[in-house]
Amino acid sequence: MNLRYDLHTHSTASDGTLTPPELVDFAHQQGVDVLALTDHDVTKGLAEATQAASLQSMTLISGVEISVSWRHQTIHILGLNIDAEDTSLLTGLEKLRAFRVWRAEEIGRRLEKAGIGGAFEVALTMSNGKNISRTHFARFLAQAGYARDVRQVFKRYLVRGKPGYVPGQWAELAEVIGWIHAAGGIAVIAHPARYKISATRLRELIEQFKKEGGQAIEVVSGTHSRDECERIAQLARHYDLLASRGSDFHDPAVAYIKMASLADLPENLTPVWVGW
Ligand code: AMP
Ligand code: MN
Ligand code: MN
Ligand code: MN
Repeated sequence: MNLRYDLHTHSTASDGTLTPPELVDFAHQQGVDVLALTDHDVTKGLAEATQAASLQSMTLISGVEISVSWRHQTIHILGLNIDAEDTSLLTGLEKLRAFRVWRAEEIGRRLEKAGIGGAFEVALTMSNGKNISRTHFARFLAQAGYARDVRQVFKRYLVRGKPGYVPGQWAELAEVIGWIHAAGGIAVIAHPARYKISATRLRELIEQFKKEGGQAIEVVSGTHSRDECERIAQLARHYDLLASRGSDFHDPAVAYIKMASLADLPENLTPVWVGW
């Protein structure tokens, strides 16, 4: 049987809008057979998601999307098929979440200076005590009419050079791969075509990732165009990396990232799930 895999999704445990059980039900309706929940820097939604999946005869893969600082850039590394209780992983993620809280306060202070008051408090409430992210600020600013939608808010307020931007101080690439391996998982470079880096730098990232023991790359992503997908497929073949497939789903109201219409993996690639 040909199973449908979606190995990159978010819930309310980080910046998604569906609770873990709602996400599982949604994925089931969309025809997903094997789902990975990969919240940002947190594994707290996994137990609930696993339980919900067992009621749907779906397979839930425990995952996480970890924030990395690499040459002053933020890079995301997915850990797939992890032991969500592993101590070194949990300790590492806790450090990242502590930075998130400090950064959110700092974003609030900077927006305040730009004339937008109270943003931290609202973003904190929107994150519901889970794991605060820029997405929570973006949703608030969009609702308050500071821009047309969340995408525009990012462009105007939250990216480098804009009033609410605070540089990331995340974990090192090698240490993150170490946490994922300690937890028995596979490290995957998430949405590689999204980074604002040259082709040469992307190759350097992949080379360092491989040297540190990284094994896989996300070829099919809800955030990749067809051309980007083909370009990353070529890199996966060239560097002999396992290929992953994930929507990066956050919110059913965001029309441009669809679970059901995600493309299949291109030919001549070894899927990341080959050994599962
Ligand atoms: P953070 O990890 O808190 O810095 O937030 C990053 C998250 O913001 C990503 O995982 C996306 O969900 C979201 N995001 C980043 N850039 C954009 C963008 N240009 N438009 C919409 N969402 C974005
Ligand atoms: Mn996100
Ligand atoms: Mn990401
Ligand atoms: Mn993601």
